Amino acid sequence: MKQLGHTKLLELDAQYCWHPFTQMQTAQPPLAVVRGEGEFLFDAQGNKYFDAVSSWWVNIHGHSNPAIAQAIAKQALELEHVMFAGVTHPPAVQLAKRLMQSAPAPMAKVFYSDNGSTAIEVALKMAFQYWQNKGVGNKKRVIALEGGYHGDTFGAMATGKSSGFYDPFAPWLFQVDFIPTGVCACTEEEALAALDTLLANSAGEIAALVLEPLIQGASGMRFMRPAHVAELCKRCEAAGVLVIFDEVFTGFGRTGTLFAAEQVANFGGQADIICISKGLTGGFMPMAATLTSQAIYDAFLSDKVGHALLHGHSYTANPLGCAAALASLALFESESTWANIQRIETTHQRWLPTLACHPLIENPRVCGTVAAFELKFNHSQCGSSSGSAYGSNTSQWIRQSFLELGIVVRPLGNTVYWVPPYCSAPETIENAYQTLMQVLQRWGKLIAPGPGSELF
Ligand SMILES: *Cc1c(COP(=O)(O)O)cnc(C)c1O
Repeated sequence: MKQLGHTKLLELDAQYCWHPFTQMQTAQPPLAVVRGEGEFLFDAQGNKYFDAVSSWWVNIHGHSNPAIAQAIAKQALELEHVMFAGVTHPPAVQLAKRLMQSAPAPMAKVFYSDNGSTAIEVALKMAFQYWQNKGVGNKKRVIALEGGYHGDTFGAMATGKSSGFYDPFAPWLFQVDFIPTGVCACTEEEALAALDTLLANSAGEIAALVLEPLIQGASGMRFMRPAHVAELCKRCEAAGVLVIFDEVFTGFGRTGTLFAAEQVANFGGQADIICISKGLTGGFMPMAATLTSQAIYDAFLSDKVGHALLHGHSYTANPLGCAAALASLALFESESTWANIQRIETTHQRWLPTLACHPLIENPRVCGTVAAFELKFNHSQCGSSSGSAYGSNTSQWIRQSFLELGIVVRPLGNTVYWVPPYCSAPETIENAYQTLMQVLQRWGKLIAPGPGSELF
């Protein structure tokens, strides 16, 4: 492709592109990236940036990883794509087998799609139709957790309604019962009580519970204890309600294990359906899968076409995506990947006491390779009541400040987090924390009362 100069690139972008989750009128010009290598991105002017958010959490082994790139190139020269209805191919079969070798019990079957939201749509449709096929006609309701995020298609929006992104679409979202998230002991109790009430009164009407196990990502990196998630699962199982784990973010090593479900299983809880996407292909290809148990699969077997799951996407089981995913999973077989994951967690843990003592930081926390905290700010100083909202001035200021210092972050309101690629060098992560200290110093001056307060 002809290399565009930095200015031309931004000019054409402004002329033709509409960016996701972006108020195009007030947004800063985008970062114009022309190359990626390992944990770094490079702009057209040759500046280097640490991708501290793994490009919206998808990149796990680094940018332009040669092993994955070569696997895609090789596959593209053999078979780039073929429909998956009535057809199969080696990468799809090998990937399904590989996924089933590592997925937690009772996963037995793989249904491919192409992004996290569609993986959720498939899971919801599976759950609804599972009960219909079994002749249990009135299980139509879904339970979700407050603040959960499951994607931007309609079913996913309905189950993530309380994340607050979807107000314009509220009239078209189906009814969902929300229970508290359970991020602390008191909301754990509330969540269990709310679930118990729902199950006691309406289990016969409830098809499924959907949740992000261990970490609610988009609503601000809110962590849940595996024991609590297990407790929710056990109660649903006892009441005849399916459990859907949305591991679109937590899958593929993010929480320290390949799937967050493994940690929940240690406490005796399991899901009937697991959705995966983001890290599946190492961040190379848009691809997703909905994993499910034999029991759910079996409920769709019948001599009637109407009992089948009549759902599919043009790019279902795209061979390039499967090849990328196989190459990415092969990297998990190398010990260094797990050593890197462990090392990132250790570095986060080592900085935790420093963050905990910092006057501008609240609630620092670590789960696997994910570290997060809230930045304290003073509403009256900012003159903005939406300081903690997504895309607010606060998050734009933070984003811009890090960018000037060579780090790409994308705060969720005033929640700042690190979700680095696993290949990030120790000094890159260390440097990110040093940079954080610098940014906090600037932030402290900005929000300090009196003259010199220059924020907004
Ligand atoms: C990102 C995300 C989704 C949506 O995935 P897309 O590929 O963006 O559609 C769903 N669930 C969770 C937990 C996510 O983090």
